[in-house]
Amino acid sequence: MNKVYLTVDLGGTRIRAARCQPDGTIEARTEQFTRGEDGPDAVIERIAESLREVWPTQSTVLSIGVVAPGPLDPYTGLVFVAPNIPGFVNVPLRDRLQAIFKVPVVIGNDANLAGLAEWRYGAARGHDDVVFLTISTGIGGGVVVNRHLLLGSEGLAAELGHITVDCNGVVCQCGNIGCIESIASGTGLVRQVVERLTAGEQSQITDLVAGDFDAINVEVLAQAADQGDVLANDVFDRSFRAFGLAIVTYLHIFNPTIVVIGGGVSNLGERLFKPIRDAVERYPMSPRYACPIVPAQLSGDVGLLGALALALDPPPQRSL
Ligand SMILES: [Zn+2]
Repeated sequence: MNKVYLTVDLGGTRIRAARCQPDGTIEARTEQFTRGEDGPDAVIERIAESLREVWPTQSTVLSIGVVAPGPLDPYTGLVFVAPNIPGFVNVPLRDRLQAIFKVPVVIGNDANLAGLAEWRYGAARGHDDVVFLTISTGIGGGVVVNRHLLLGSEGLAAELGHITVDCNGVVCQCGNIGCIESIASGTGLVRQVVERLTAGEQSQITDLVAGDFDAINVEVLAQAADQGDVLANDVFDRSFRAFGLAIVTYLHIFNPTIVVIGGGVSNLGERLFKPIRDAVERYPMSPRYACPIVPAQLSGDVGLLGALALALDPPPQRSL
Protein backbone atom coordinates (compact mmCIF):
# COMPACT_ATOMS: atom_id res chain seq x y z
CA MET A 1 0.00 0.00 0.00
CA ASN A 2 1.22 3.47 -0.92
CA LYS A 3 2.43 5.51 2.05
CA VAL A 4 2.02 9.28 2.27
CA TYR A 5 2.54 12.17 4.67
CA LEU A 6 0.05 14.94 5.36
CA THR A 7 1.20 18.46 6.10
CA VAL A 8 -0.42 21.60 7.48
CA ASP A 9 0.72 25.20 7.19
CA LEU A 10 -1.05 27.17 9.92
CA GLY A 11 -0.82 30.90 9.25
CA GLY A 12 -2.50 33.96 10.70
CA THR A 13 -4.55 34.36 7.50
CA ARG A 14 -4.74 30.91 5.91
CA ILE A 15 -4.66 27.23 6.77
CA ARG A 16 -3.15 25.11 4.01
CA ALA A 17 -2.99 21.33 4.00
CA ALA A 18 -1.48 18.86 1.58
CA ARG A 19 -0.91 15.19 0.90
CA CYS A 20 2.74 14.60 0.01
CA GLN A 21 5.21 12.03 -1.18
CA PRO A 22 8.60 12.04 0.60
CA ASP A 23 10.23 13.47 -2.55
CA GLY A 24 8.17 16.65 -2.13
CA THR A 25 5.50 15.82 -4.70
CA ILE A 26 2.19 17.31 -3.58
CA GLU A 27 -0.66 14.95 -4.54
CA ALA A 28 -3.52 17.01 -3.17
CA ARG A 29 -3.96 20.33 -1.45
CA THR A 30 -6.58 22.51 0.17
CA GLU A 31 -6.73 25.99 1.63
CA GLN A 32 -9.14 28.00 3.75
CA PHE A 33 -9.12 31.14 5.86
CA THR A 34 -7.89 30.71 9.45
CA ARG A 35 -10.47 33.11 10.90
CA GLY A 36 -8.51 33.18 14.14
CA GLU A 37 -11.06 35.53 15.74
CA ASP A 38 -13.30 32.46 16.24
CA GLY A 39 -10.82 31.12 18.84
CA PRO A 40 -8.41 28.16 19.09
CA ASP A 41 -11.04 25.39 19.13
CA ALA A 42 -12.56 26.61 15.86
CA VAL A 43 -9.08 26.92 14.31
CA ILE A 44 -8.18 23.35 15.35
CA GLU A 45 -11.48 22.12 13.87
CA ARG A 46 -10.60 23.89 10.59
CA ILE A 47 -7.17 22.23 10.58
CA ALA A 48 -8.87 18.86 11.08
CA GLU A 49 -11.36 19.63 8.31
CA SER A 50 -8.49 20.53 5.95
CA LEU A 51 -6.70 17.27 6.80
CA ARG A 52 -9.87 15.25 6.10
CA GLU A 53 -10.10 16.91 2.68
CA VAL A 54 -6.64 15.67 1.67
CA TRP A 55 -6.89 12.33 3.52
CA PRO A 56 -6.15 9.49 1.06
CA THR A 57 -8.62 6.74 0.26
CA GLN A 58 -6.03 4.34 -1.20
CA SER A 59 -2.90 5.09 0.88
CA THR A 60 -1.71 4.90 4.47
CA VAL A 61 -0.87 8.14 6.30
CA LEU A 62 2.49 7.68 8.04
CA SER A 63 2.43 10.94 9.97
CA ILE A 64 1.33 14.57 9.93
CA GLY A 65 3.75 17.50 9.93
CA VAL A 66 2.53 20.93 11.02
CA VAL A 67 4.24 24.29 10.63
CA ALA A 68 3.02 27.09 12.90
CA PRO A 69 4.13 30.68 13.42
CA GLY A 70 5.65 31.91 16.64
CA PRO A 71 7.38 30.16 19.51
CA LEU A 72 6.51 26.52 20.13
CA ASP A 73 8.03 23.37 21.56
CA PRO A 74 8.76 20.82 18.81
CA TYR A 75 9.44 18.12 21.44
CA THR A 76 6.08 18.38 23.25
CA GLY A 77 3.95 19.83 20.45
CA LEU A 78 2.89 22.80 22.56
CA VAL A 79 2.35 26.11 20.72
CA PHE A 80 3.25 28.88 23.18
CA VAL A 81 1.64 31.64 21.16
CA ALA A 82 0.53 31.92 17.53
CA PRO A 83 0.79 35.57 16.44
CA ASN A 84 -2.34 36.92 14.71
CA ILE A 85 -4.53 34.13 16.13
CA PRO A 86 -6.13 35.63 19.23
CA GLY A 87 -6.22 33.30 22.25
CA PHE A 88 -3.98 30.70 20.60
CA VAL A 89 -1.80 30.47 23.71
CA ASN A 90 -0.29 27.29 25.21
CA VAL A 91 -2.26 25.08 22.84
CA PRO A 92 -1.22 21.38 22.84
CA LEU A 93 -1.64 21.23 19.07
CA ARG A 94 0.23 17.94 18.54
CA ASP A 95 -1.87 16.10 21.12
CA ARG A 96 -5.15 17.62 19.95
CA LEU A 97 -4.53 16.46 16.36
CA GLN A 98 -3.18 13.03 17.42
CA ALA A 99 -6.35 12.47 19.45
CA ILE A 100 -8.44 13.10 16.32
CA PHE A 101 -6.43 11.24 13.69
CA LYS A 102 -4.58 8.50 15.66
CA VAL A 103 -1.34 8.96 13.69
CA PRO A 104 1.91 10.63 14.83
CA VAL A 105 1.90 14.44 14.58
CA VAL A 106 4.98 16.65 14.75
CA ILE A 107 5.10 20.45 14.80
CA GLY A 108 7.76 23.04 14.05
CA ASN A 109 8.22 26.78 13.79
CA ASP A 110 7.91 28.51 10.43
CA ALA A 111 11.41 30.00 10.06
CA ASN A 112 13.12 26.77 11.24
CA LEU A 113 11.06 24.69 8.85
CA ALA A 114 11.61 27.07 5.92
CA GLY A 115 15.32 26.40 6.43
CA LEU A 116 14.69 22.66 6.57
CA ALA A 117 12.60 22.86 3.37
CA GLU A 118 15.32 24.79 1.51
CA TRP A 119 17.79 22.13 2.61
CA ARG A 120 15.73 19.14 1.49
CA TYR A 121 13.88 20.56 -1.53
CA GLY A 122 15.26 24.00 -2.40
CA ALA A 123 18.38 26.11 -2.75
CA ALA A 124 20.50 24.08 -0.30
CA ARG A 125 19.84 20.59 -1.67
CA GLY A 126 22.88 18.35 -1.33
CA HIS A 127 24.45 20.42 1.46
CA ASP A 128 24.93 18.95 4.95
CA ASP A 129 25.36 22.22 6.87
CA VAL A 130 23.07 25.13 6.07
CA VAL A 131 22.26 28.53 7.51
CA PHE A 132 18.89 29.90 6.38
CA LEU A 133 17.66 33.42 7.07
CA THR A 134 14.30 34.95 6.31
CA ILE A 135 14.25 38.73 6.29
CA SER A 136 10.89 40.53 6.16
CA THR A 137 9.22 42.47 8.99
CA GLY A 138 11.53 40.48 11.29
CA ILE A 139 14.53 38.22 10.79
CA GLY A 140 14.12 34.50 11.43
CA GLY A 141 16.51 31.62 11.08
CA GLY A 142 16.81 27.92 10.50
CA VAL A 143 20.02 25.94 10.83
CA VAL A 144 20.77 22.47 9.50
CA VAL A 145 23.75 20.81 11.14
CA ASN A 146 25.03 17.56 9.66
CA ARG A 147 21.68 17.01 7.88
CA HIS A 148 19.52 17.61 10.97
CA LEU A 149 17.53 20.65 12.04
CA LEU A 150 19.18 22.40 14.99
CA LEU A 151 16.54 22.73 17.73
CA GLY A 152 18.40 23.08 21.05
CA SER A 153 17.36 21.79 24.46
CA GLU A 154 13.99 23.56 24.52
CA GLY A 155 13.51 23.75 20.76
CA LEU A 156 14.30 27.46 20.81
CA ALA A 157 17.57 27.49 18.86
CA ALA A 158 18.40 29.39 15.66
CA GLU A 159 16.93 32.77 16.61
CA LEU A 160 19.44 34.27 14.20
CA GLY A 161 17.68 37.66 14.09
CA HIS A 162 18.37 38.25 17.75
CA ILE A 163 22.12 38.57 18.01
CA THR A 164 23.40 41.93 19.19
CA VAL A 165 25.35 43.89 16.60
CA ASP A 166 25.07 47.27 18.38
CA CYS A 167 25.56 47.39 22.16
CA ASN A 168 24.26 50.98 22.11
CA GLY A 169 21.34 50.18 19.85
CA VAL A 170 17.60 50.30 20.43
CA VAL A 171 15.73 47.75 22.52
CA CYS A 172 14.51 45.03 20.17
CA GLN A 173 10.93 43.73 20.34
CA CYS A 174 12.46 40.55 21.85
CA GLY A 175 13.83 42.52 24.83
CA ASN A 176 17.52 42.33 23.85
CA ILE A 177 19.55 45.37 22.77
CA GLY A 178 20.68 46.21 19.25
CA CYS A 179 19.63 42.95 17.59
CA ILE A 180 20.30 42.64 13.87
CA GLU A 181 16.50 42.33 13.44
CA SER A 182 16.03 45.82 14.91
CA ILE A 183 18.39 47.19 12.23
CA ALA A 184 18.19 45.19 9.00
CA SER A 185 14.58 43.92 8.98
CA GLY A 186 11.96 45.87 7.03
CA THR A 187 10.72 47.30 10.31
CA GLY A 188 14.27 48.24 11.36
CA LEU A 189 15.06 49.94 8.05
CA VAL A 190 11.87 52.01 8.15
CA ARG A 191 12.42 52.92 11.81
CA GLN A 192 15.88 54.34 11.08
CA VAL A 193 14.62 56.35 8.12
CA VAL A 194 11.69 57.81 10.06
CA GLU A 195 14.01 58.75 12.95
CA ARG A 196 16.34 60.63 10.61
CA LEU A 197 13.51 62.36 8.74
CA THR A 198 11.94 63.38 12.04
CA ALA A 199 15.31 64.82 13.08
CA GLY A 200 15.12 67.06 10.00
CA GLU A 201 17.21 65.23 7.41
CA GLN A 202 16.22 66.04 3.82
CA SER A 203 15.26 63.20 1.52
CA GLN A 204 13.17 62.40 -1.57
CA ILE A 205 11.34 59.89 0.61
CA THR A 206 9.29 62.73 2.11
CA ASP A 207 7.96 63.61 -1.36
CA LEU A 208 7.39 59.98 -2.34
CA VAL A 209 4.98 59.53 0.57
CA ALA A 210 3.60 63.10 0.41
CA GLY A 211 4.84 63.80 3.93
CA ASP A 212 3.06 60.80 5.48
CA PHE A 213 5.83 58.96 7.32
CA ASP A 214 3.42 56.10 8.16
CA ALA A 215 3.35 55.27 4.45
CA ILE A 216 7.11 54.56 4.32
CA ASN A 217 7.94 50.94 3.54
CA VAL A 218 10.84 49.01 2.03
CA GLU A 219 9.48 49.48 -1.52
CA VAL A 220 9.44 53.26 -1.03
CA LEU A 221 13.02 53.14 0.29
CA ALA A 222 14.10 51.08 -2.72
CA GLN A 223 12.46 53.56 -5.07
CA ALA A 224 14.22 56.47 -3.37
CA ALA A 225 17.55 54.63 -3.38
CA ASP A 226 17.18 53.94 -7.12
CA GLN A 227 16.75 57.69 -7.64
CA GLY A 228 20.04 58.28 -5.81
CA ASP A 229 18.56 59.40 -2.50
CA VAL A 230 21.40 59.75 0.01
CA LEU A 231 19.39 58.85 3.12
CA ALA A 232 17.82 55.70 1.62
CA ASN A 233 21.16 54.51 0.28
CA ASP A 234 22.94 55.22 3.55
CA VAL A 235 20.38 53.28 5.62
CA PHE A 236 20.51 50.33 3.22
CA ASP A 237 24.32 50.32 3.10
CA ARG A 238 24.88 50.53 6.86
CA SER A 239 22.11 48.09 7.74
CA PHE A 240 23.04 45.42 5.20
CA ARG A 241 26.72 45.75 6.09
CA ALA A 242 25.65 44.99 9.68
CA PHE A 243 23.64 42.04 8.37
CA GLY A 244 26.74 40.85 6.50
CA LEU A 245 28.74 41.05 9.72
CA ALA A 246 26.04 39.05 11.52
CA ILE A 247 26.36 36.42 8.79
CA VAL A 248 30.14 36.32 9.35
CA THR A 249 29.28 35.42 12.96
CA TYR A 250 27.00 32.61 11.77
CA LEU A 251 29.81 31.32 9.54
CA HIS A 252 32.12 31.28 12.57
CA ILE A 253 29.57 29.43 14.70
CA PHE A 254 28.02 26.97 12.24
CA ASN A 255 30.61 26.75 9.42
CA PRO A 256 27.93 26.02 6.80
CA THR A 257 28.63 25.19 3.15
CA ILE A 258 25.82 27.53 2.00
CA VAL A 259 23.76 30.45 3.33
CA VAL A 260 20.23 30.82 1.94
CA ILE A 261 18.29 34.08 2.31
CA GLY A 262 14.54 34.41 1.77
CA GLY A 263 11.72 36.69 2.86
CA GLY A 264 10.27 39.88 1.33
CA VAL A 265 13.35 42.07 1.90
CA SER A 266 15.47 39.57 -0.07
CA ASN A 267 13.57 40.76 -3.18
CA LEU A 268 15.90 43.78 -3.04
CA GLY A 269 18.40 41.50 -4.77
CA GLU A 270 21.94 42.84 -5.14
CA ARG A 271 21.19 45.82 -2.92
CA LEU A 272 21.02 43.26 -0.10
CA PHE A 273 23.33 40.52 -1.38
CA LYS A 274 26.29 42.68 -2.41
CA PRO A 275 27.08 44.17 1.03
CA ILE A 276 26.62 40.71 2.52
CA ARG A 277 29.05 39.14 0.05
CA ASP A 278 31.53 41.97 0.62
CA ALA A 279 31.47 41.38 4.39
CA VAL A 280 31.68 37.63 3.99
CA GLU A 281 34.68 37.96 1.68
CA ARG A 282 36.53 40.31 3.96
CA TYR A 283 35.89 39.54 7.63
CA PRO A 284 35.91 35.81 8.44
CA MET A 285 38.93 34.64 10.42
CA SER A 286 39.94 32.32 7.60
CA PRO A 287 39.09 32.16 3.88
CA ARG A 288 38.09 28.55 4.55
CA TYR A 289 34.74 29.87 5.87
CA ALA A 290 33.85 31.13 2.40
CA CYS A 291 30.58 29.73 1.02
CA PRO A 292 27.88 30.75 -1.45
CA ILE A 293 25.22 33.22 -0.25
CA VAL A 294 22.13 32.51 -2.35
CA PRO A 295 18.46 33.48 -2.56
CA ALA A 296 15.80 31.01 -1.38
CA GLN A 297 14.09 28.95 -4.10
CA LEU A 298 10.83 27.81 -2.54
CA SER A 299 7.97 30.24 -2.36
CA GLY A 300 4.33 29.56 -1.50
CA ASP A 301 4.79 25.88 -0.63
CA VAL A 302 7.79 26.39 1.64
CA GLY A 303 5.68 25.83 4.79
CA LEU A 304 4.06 22.62 3.54
CA LEU A 305 7.43 21.27 2.40
CA GLY A 306 9.11 22.24 5.68
CA ALA A 307 6.41 20.37 7.60
CA LEU A 308 7.00 17.39 5.31
CA ALA A 309 10.76 17.50 5.91
CA LEU A 310 10.11 17.56 9.67
CA ALA A 311 7.70 14.61 9.44
CA LEU A 312 10.39 12.65 7.56
CA ASP A 313 12.92 13.22 10.36
CA PRO A 314 10.97 14.09 13.51
CA PRO A 315 12.72 15.25 16.67
CA PRO A 316 12.33 12.97 19.72
CA GLN A 317 8.87 13.48 21.20
CA ARG A 318 8.17 14.04 24.90
CA SER A 319 4.80 13.89 26.60
CA LEU A 320 3.32 17.12 27.90
ZN1 LIG B 1 15.88 40.85 19.28
